[in-house]
Amino acid sequence: MIKHNIETAPFIREMCDITYKLWQKGWAERNGGNISYLLKEEEVAPYLDTSKIISESVMPIPIPELKNRIFLVSGSGKYFRNAITNPADTLVIIKISDDGTKYQKLWGLINGGNPTSELASHLKCHATRLSVDPEHRVIFHTHATSTIAMTFVHDLDESKFTKTLWQQITECLIVFPDGVSIVPWMIAGTVELGWESARRMEYCRVVIWAHHGIMGAGTSMDDAFGLVETVDKAADIYLQSASVTTGIKQSITTEQLKSLAKAFNVVPREGIL
Ligand SMILES: [Zn+2]
Repeated sequence: MIKHNIETAPFIREMCDITYKLWQKGWAERNGGNISYLLKEEEVAPYLDTSKIISESVMPIPIPELKNRIFLVSGSGKYFRNAITNPADTLVIIKISDDGTKYQKLWGLINGGNPTSELASHLKCHATRLSVDPEHRVIFHTHATSTIAMTFVHDLDESKFTKTLWQQITECLIVFPDGVSIVPWMIAGTVELGWESARRMEYCRVVIWAHHGIMGAGTSMDDAFGLVETVDKAADIYLQSASVTTGIKQSITTEQLKSLAKAFNVVPREGIL
C-alpha cells in the first residue's frame, strides 16, 4: 500500500505548530523544552509501516505498561523553532518493544541524534497519566518564564503555591482543580527527576520543576498547551501584582474559591482551601 507523505500528517502538523508557538512565547530558547505525543496505530498507519524498524535502543528505564505504544518525540539538542521547517530532522517516532525494555525508531532524526534526554521523565509520566486517564496523550516540558520566576520568590509548598495561582485568575481553579505539584531543584535529564515527576502526575497534570520549568499533561495538544498557558499567566499576574510598591490590597478569597468550585462542579484538590 502506498503511504502518504508523513510530513502532511495531522499529528506532525500539530506538533510543529505547538513547538513553534512555544518558541514564540519565549519558552523554548535554544534547544530548551521537549515534547512527546502518544499516537494511535491507526493514525500512523496511512503514513508509516510500523513494523519497519530503523534502529532499536534500550529504554532509560523499562516500562512494560507502555509496550507497543507509539510516540512522536522531540529530538535531544534540537531547536523547537526548527521543527516547523524540518520535522524529519527535529522529531522522531518511536515504538516501545513488546516487553517494554527497548524503543524502536520508526521515522525521523534523519541527520542522526536521539530522542529527548528527558525521555525517562516523559515515558514515566505517560504511564502514570494513562493509569488515571485513558484519554491522556501529551506530555511537554517548557521553560515557562513567569512560572520559573515564581519559584524564586514564592514558598515552594505545593498547596500554598496552588492556592496563590488559583487566586490570580477566576478560571484557574476551573482549569486545574487538581492544582500543581513542585519538584525541588534537581539535575535535568536524570531518571530520578523522571520518577519524581511521574509520582506527582498521579494526582495532578502540572509538575513544576523549581528554577527550571514546567511539565504539563493533556488529552490533546490544545489541552496540554492551554493548561500550561493558564498556569503561567497566573504566575505572571502574581509577579506583577506582588512587585508593585503599594502591595496587594485584595484577592479572591478562600470562600469565593469554594463557591466557584461549587458553581462549576469541580473538586479542588483536598487540603488547599
Ligand atoms: Zn528544561
